[in-house]
Amino acid sequence: MAELNLILLGPPGSGKGTQAERIREDEDLAYIATGDMLRQAVADGTPLGLQAKGFMDAGELVPDDVIIGMIGDRLSSADARDGFLLDGFPRTIAQAEALDAALREHGRDITTVLLFDVADEEIVRRISGRRVSASGRVYHVDFDPPKVEGVDDVDGTPLVQRDDDRPETVLRRLSVYHEQTAPLVGYYEERGLLQSIDATVSPSQVAEHVRSTLATLKRESDF
Ligand code: AMP
Repeated sequence: MAELNLILLGPPGSGKGTQAERIREDEDLAYIATGDMLRQAVADGTPLGLQAKGFMDAGELVPDDVIIGMIGDRLSSADARDGFLLDGFPRTIAQAEALDAALREHGRDITTVLLFDVADEEIVRRISGRRVSASGRVYHVDFDPPKVEGVDDVDGTPLVQRDDDRPETVLRRLSVYHEQTAPLVGYYEERGLLQSIDATVSPSQVAEHVRSTLATLKRESDF
């Protein structure tokens, strides 16, 4: 049986993290979110975290060699061998090529790339209301509020705004997305891997679209 190897692609604030949570309720996949890994490294004060923090706070990408080194070990770890869900990686053509090479080496393939499509103005509106819990669950003060204001539904820890969700950093992250990450749309389109999802509708409607896209893929292949 083939493994399900998914990539979530889209600008910051397009709902990748929220949809990743929903996909993980349905599919048993290793969840690999480079942003979460980096934030953990920063919180732990590791050398990787110290190296990454300045780039992250400025809304810039962490250099490719750092990210590629970090992801390589994770992809070959035991839980990722039967399928994975990549969120926030790859973000440059160089990262996509490194991923292809790493998978090819083990006779593995990407199953599909889900592109979450949203206009920039909508993203700024969304990110300004975004709040996250210490464990990485994502909420929005208006569109996806927690049951009790300001605290995580599951473990009750306080919700905070990420440093890089400040408006000026969001604008920089968006232009970095257009310059460095958007070229991946063509890269995966050429390889017949891209599935575009309208991410302007509600999170449940997006989740429904993702679910039907994955169901179609499953009918057409063997996983
Ligand atoms: P995210 O949570 O995915 O929006 O990532 C937060 C920040 O971490 C980004 O703005 C980058 O500074 C950094 N980052 C995460 N993933 C990558 C990646 N694949 N390549 C370079 N930088 C990354």
